[in-house]
Amino acid sequence: MGLRLGFDIDGVLADFQTALGSACQDLIGIEAGLVSARDLPTVELKRAWRRIIRTPNWWTTLSAYEPDQIARLYDLTRRNRWEVFFLTKRPPTVGDTVQVQTQWWIESQGFYLPSVATVPSSRGEIAQALRLDLVVDDQFVECVDCIGSSAAKALLMLRDTADQATHDQATSQGIGIVSTLAEALDVIEQLDTLVGSKSGALARLKNWFSFATEDNPVLPMNPRETRPLPTPRS
Ligand SMILES: [Mg+2]
Repeated sequence: MGLRLGFDIDGVLADFQTALGSACQDLIGIEAGLVSARDLPTVELKRAWRRIIRTPNWWTTLSAYEPDQIARLYDLTRRNRWEVFFLTKRPPTVGDTVQVQTQWWIESQGFYLPSVATVPSSRGEIAQALRLDLVVDDQFVECVDCIGSSAAKALLMLRDTADQATHDQATSQGIGIVSTLAEALDVIEQLDTLVGSKSGALARLKNWFSFATEDNPVLPMNPRETRPLPTPRS
């Protein structure tokens, strides 16, 4: 059985901090991108959130940190038979549901048919319920929750490589550290080789070359290219 993986979205795939900073640039009178949301005063932050909630489909407007790596994740997922769940606690905005907005955004980055769970409760609970093997999250507390409440391992996405305190805290708890999605995928590929059904690097290489065969027919990599979908009734 392939690995079962959970990916947090904001801070891992999507650059939420820059988008939030940009969303309230005129509230604090500075240029977009010059402030992190972490530095915003509480009053401005609340006003920014009110604005975001009123902006139709705001969650589709975020930038990806590493767009090519989301497509790489899809490719690895298909080839290695991983089961991937995207996890988020995003609040709703005007427009489509958080789930549809998030699915739309992930698919636009090259990961087709994403499973998105919009779960406001504990990450550990959902990691346990979904029997995840590994969760990637940019919040230390969520990583601690996952390893404490489930059998999942956790990888902390620490994009601020100067944050030695968090680095040390996570390491002491047995939480892995990565600073990019590319690095996280490298680690997961190594994990897959170690614990997956494949018996080693050679078998793994063989799998890459025999991904689709007569005995192992697989669906097209891009399901949208196969045929037009029926139009839903209005
Ligand atoms: Mg996050």
